[in-house]
Amino acid sequence: MKLELVDAKKWINLFVEKVQANKANLNELDTAIGDGDHGTNMDRGMNAIKDSFAKKDPENLADLYKATAFAMIQKVGGASGPLYGTAFLDMSKAVKTENIELADLIQVGTDGIKRRGQSDVGMKTMIDVWQPVSDALKNDAFNQKVIDSALEIVKDLVATKGRASYLEEKSKDHIDPGAESSAYLFESLLEVLGD
Ligand code: ADP
Ligand code: MG
Ligand code: MG
Repeated sequence: MKLELVDAKKWINLFVEKVQANKANLNELDTAIGDGDHGTNMDRGMNAIKDSFAKKDPENLADLYKATAFAMIQKVGGASGPLYGTAFLDMSKAVKTENIELADLIQVGTDGIKRRGQSDVGMKTMIDVWQPVSDALKNDAFNQKVIDSALEIVKDLVATKGRASYLEEKSKDHIDPGAESSAYLFESLLEVLGD
């Protein structure tokens, strides 16, 4: 399965809406195990995405993902900006060069985060949502349950990357903020795939 431009636009626009509606929740999650700014950081990036699309409506998938990447790299800041930015930049390159399936596209994004963040599954980061979603898409088994159980698993993990890792064992029993914002990204994707 592949995502057409019109659906990919819906996907990113829904993501923007969800992040902005849940800005306070993301800040709250980050207050518990980080520095409290993940919602504020992401909100800035979402405004930059909106500005970018208003200025120039993306004409193809590569442009859409590239504009998303640039907005996030330039405006989100923190650890998460370059990570989301790399994911979308790599996805932009992938749709340009190959007729890539959605599952493989999300894996490309996941691999970009792993490379940029020197991180992998099990470190209590956004990767712990991206990778299970990639896997589920490959198995044609992507649904809300995949996202919910990924977040449950994330909650139990001890962080070994990012700010939360400074807390060691105390990072347990909290949802990672980047995993939560990634859940919004993929809940948005589910909504698009659903209709
Ligand atoms: P900062 O920690 O710089 O304040 P944010 O609060 O915006 O940045 O983002 C924090 C999120 O970034 C974490 O919840 C985690 O999901 C993600 N993150 C941080 N470091 C890494 C990493 N090395 N690899 C993957 N994700 C990471
Ligand atoms: Mg933070
Ligand atoms: Mg910060």
